Amino acid sequence: MGCSTAYHLAKLGQRDVVLLERHTLTSGSTFHAAGLVGQLRSSASVTRLLGHSVALYESLEAETGQATGWKRSGGLRLACSRERMEELERQSRTARTFGLEMHLLTPKEAHRRWPLIEVDDLVGAAFVPSDGSASPADVTQALARGARMHGATLVERCRVTGVNLREGRVAGVQTESGAIVCEIVVNCAGRWASEFGRIASVTVPVVSIEHQFLITEPIEGVPRDLPTLRDPDRLTYYKEETGGLLMGGYEPNPVVCDPDAERPGELLPPDFDHFQQLADLAVGRVPALEHAGIRQLVNGAEGFTPDGQFILGEAPELRGYYVGAGFNAYGIAAAGGAGRALAEWICAGEPTSDLSPVDIRRFGPSCSDPAWVRSRAIELYARHYAITRAE
Ligand SMILES: Cc1cc2nc3c(=O)[nH]c(=O)nc-3n(C[C@H](O)[C@H](O)[C@H](O)COP(=O)(O)OP(=O)(O)OC[C@H]3O[C@@H](n4cnc5c(N)ncnc54)[C@H](O)[C@@H]3O)c2cc1C
Repeated sequence: MGCSTAYHLAKLGQRDVVLLERHTLTSGSTFHAAGLVGQLRSSASVTRLLGHSVALYESLEAETGQATGWKRSGGLRLACSRERMEELERQSRTARTFGLEMHLLTPKEAHRRWPLIEVDDLVGAAFVPSDGSASPADVTQALARGARMHGATLVERCRVTGVNLREGRVAGVQTESGAIVCEIVVNCAGRWASEFGRIASVTVPVVSIEHQFLITEPIEGVPRDLPTLRDPDRLTYYKEETGGLLMGGYEPNPVVCDPDAERPGELLPPDFDHFQQLADLAVGRVPALEHAGIRQLVNGAEGFTPDGQFILGEAPELRGYYVGAGFNAYGIAAAGGAGRALAEWICAGEPTSDLSPVDIRRFGPSCSDPAWVRSRAIELYARHYAITRAE
């Protein structure tokens, strides 16, 4: 998100754009993301914003010479109940109004697109042809290169330790290597955004929660262009990964972690016992998983928010202090568009599209209560795949 914001600010002609990273680029949640890029969200403007990510990841290599690993494989979503199918039907109608192509499929058609799945319990499915996946580290490096090409400066191994204020607004930052005078600060500190916000008395309701996925050894019959797959009734998602499968999901009993205890660039220890509940559900859908060799169980932490939406915009407490964080495990999908939206917001002094679902000003005083924020973030994680009712 930091690289995307810097890239878009520099591209919009802003001078003196500096990105400060305390460790190395991608060493936060980005280096261990699975890389699925799905676009449909419940609001038109956020869906459009994710569509910009797709367009950007498709075109960045031509602009910067750095590949992004973008693969337009399409995205498949399954329905195992009438209620879930109604949700897909509603989403496909909504997608059309958002300008996003989404087709409804029969179980047989779903099986044709994803031959490794059991379809006996399926009522139907939906397919978004323009969804896909990208390599999170490569996307970041491409955005970083693009930002530099447009004149931004990126400094690694430079921790920001303080925010200087003058007359009630941002006047600069303190870093381990000295101070920088600036009128605008953007907090893109990922799952540390809350702690980083606190330095300047800005409330950023982000909670760090563990998230795991499994990578298998190659499996026969897994093509490179396999669509991404979401099986919400079994709480799991999938993508092709070097001839095998990557399978992750959302446990109903998430584990909160302490961001101060997490080191950038390092994974958390894999928790096989906790992941077992998802593995059991996944084997029922993809029987080939039962005998597949396990290459790695990745356990990473990610920033989640009290309402499942990310956080964008100028903090109401402090002029010149902007936030782009709390991506609820879809920050790769969102960062391209979110970085552009935030850069435009900074340049124009106001949002350039309806960003009310993600606007930082949506939060009330309850967000300054860490216990409330934590319990809501846990609830939202646990209900990630709950059926959404018509709005
Ligand atoms: C297991 C797992 C799987 C995921 N799968 C997907 C997926 O398939 N698709 C998807 O879209 N998303 C996925 N995500 C989510 C995605 O990884 C994140 O949403 C995204 O990486 C967030 O990017 P970011 O730039 O906001 O934060 P980060 O990548 O965490 O970057 C924040 C940076 O801020 C730096 N920083 C913090 N404090 C300071 C300071 N004081 N000074 C200087 N620098 C500082 C950190 O070092 C860090 O590099 C997944 C996450 C996990 C954990």
